[in-house]
Amino acid sequence: MKIRVLGCHGGSLPGFSPVSLLIDEKISLDAGTLTSVLSFQEQLKISSVLLTHPHLDHFHELAFLIDNRKVENVLSKTVTVYSTQNILQYIHSHIFNDIIWPDYTKKPAPALLELYPIEEGCSFSIEDYQIEAVRVEHAIEAVGFIVRGQKGTCVFSGDTKATEKLWRRAQTYSDLKAVFLELSYSERKSEWTKTAKHHSVSTFVEELKKIPEGVDVYAYHLKPQFYEEIKKELLAYRFKNVQIIQKGEVLII
Ligand SMILES: [Zn+2]
Ligand SMILES: [Zn+2]
Repeated sequence: MKIRVLGCHGGSLPGFSPVSLLIDEKISLDAGTLTSVLSFQEQLKISSVLLTHPHLDHFHELAFLIDNRKVENVLSKTVTVYSTQNILQYIHSHIFNDIIWPDYTKKPAPALLELYPIEEGCSFSIEDYQIEAVRVEHAIEAVGFIVRGQKGTCVFSGDTKATEKLWRRAQTYSDLKAVFLELSYSERKSEWTKTAKHHSVSTFVEELKKIPEGVDVYAYHLKPQFYEEIKKELLAYRFKNVQIIQKGEVLII
């Protein structure tokens, strides 16, 4: 599995971009950074988006991904967005509603945007991957994804505070290779994680205990304003299997 980090932060500032992790150039885990870094030809390769939740930093460039296809008159390349029924309904009724942005689920024909509802706990396949969504604990409905490829399984937590079900499911995969776990705040701002339901460094470290030994852990979704503080605090633990992912990085898993 090749994972290209298009964006990996919990906000937007110069040098920092919201979350999109591009799997094998075709499947994007969230859609916070697509069109601002990919050429149009690269954008056309994307057929699927796994959407963890409807917060703006996780999907806003989906709007431009689809609009670019319309403008360039490439009408045969549908983007399918996979998430729960509620999460898809939120982006449909609040964004792709013919007011904020065109309803690309209906026009032009054939539709450029397909919303594909998935049931939590039921696996579905995209290309060679078996994928499962698991509910996590965020301020609104949100899921993490478990993606199993031919060479191993990866877990993407999405935005969440401490959670259990995702790790119980992850432990059933004997070929688990990597976990992408959100980390948003430094300890100085840990109070903010309570209402926003994210991890600070200390709760992130607690969460690591639920992940099987030997699995690589990639921290992402760091808030740009606290990036250096978080990095310093995390490095102090000297974990060998934990690293903060960088924008532009390519990981082979
Ligand atoms: Zn977020
Ligand atoms: Zn969020």
